[in-house]
Amino acid sequence: MSYCADCGLELAAGTEACEQCGRPVEHEAAPEGGYYRKEGYSKGFLQHDGRTYSVSAFAFAVLALVAFPPLFALAAVALGYMGYRRGDVQLGMMAMAVGVIFGVVGMLLGVLVWNI
Ligand SMILES: [Zn+2]
Repeated sequence: MSYCADCGLELAAGTEACEQCGRPVEHEAAPEGGYYRKEGYSKGFLQHDGRTYSVSAFAFAVLALVAFPPLFALAAVALGYMGYRRGDVQLGMMAMAVGVIFGVVGMLLGVLVWNI
């Protein structure tokens, strides 16, 4: 039995990529042992922790569309970065991108609304 090097998910024999995080499975013999399993599990928990930040980042990104774009967009990018640093790489990076985009769109909307 092997485990994903990234998130610690148990991998079925013959799997090409991890079901949970999408990391391609390395086919060299992985060291079997408590240490690696433990590390994998704690990484899994960290990723779960990061997910909380990434999801909050999306909420702030949406808020940036309707109110105080620079403030909420900054919060979204910061939270997305926290999620990214805590192991939720894909969603964290997406949240940062969405934070920047929604921040810019929100500011443009604000300019339109206030100048008309
Ligand atoms: Zn994985």
